[in-house]
Amino acid sequence: MSWNAEQKMRLLFALRSKGVTEKAVLTAMENIDRGLFVQGLFADRAYEDTPLPIICGQTISQPSIVGLMTQALEVGPRDKVLELGTGSGYQAAILSQLARRVYTVDRFRRLVAQAQDVFDQLGLTNIITFTADGSYGLPDHAPFDRIIVTAAAEDPPGPLLAQLRIGGIMVLPVGQSDAVQSLIKVRRTETGFEYDELLKVRFVPLLEGLGRE
Ligand code: SAH
Repeated sequence: MSWNAEQKMRLLFALRSKGVTEKAVLTAMENIDRGLFVQGLFADRAYEDTPLPIICGQTISQPSIVGLMTQALEVGPRDKVLELGTGSGYQAAILSQLARRVYTVDRFRRLVAQAQDVFDQLGLTNIITFTADGSYGLPDHAPFDRIIVTAAAEDPPGPLLAQLRIGGIMVLPVGQSDAVQSLIKVRRTETGFEYDELLKVRFVPLLEGLGRE
């Protein structure tokens, strides 16, 4: 069963009221049924603007945060995007509507397999999944036009900055893992990096190595 008109309308209203106003981003979010990415106990809350638990002790992000991050990323149809932290796959699915290709990495094999199943079900063939420690980026596929990190590090990981194309944008939460973090937008220029702080957020921490599941 897919989401109904009322669930869709409520979610889009929540997104707009939190500042997600970009038409292309709203359309992408209207095209992707979040219910497919939330299994088990919390499935009936999939259309609320709230983060929810998923397998492997992780979380699917709050829809308005997904929208604001996607909007800040300024994705264009020719862009090659790297997402670090596949989780449920929801953010990658939204990005797949806007970008040429999405490379998404998670340290849990189980999460990657589950997300891949949903991508297959939706026919999202421009998403490529990887099980790896994403802190090192994907050097074989770099550079990227856009990079989005959905787990918090203390600082932007050096390898990711190095894999961002000149003119490219990276959006990521930074800060102590269990305290308040800031969502940062980084632009790579000819001469260096420009940083903007967007809003306070709370993400699960970026961890080292592969997960056990
Ligand atoms: N974008 C996701 C939410 C991700 S939650 C969604 O739309 O549902 C953050 C994810 O980052 C978790 O799944 C966690 O396993 C992953 N993660 C944390 N550290 C990582 C690392 N070093 N490399 C790859 N993935 C990592």
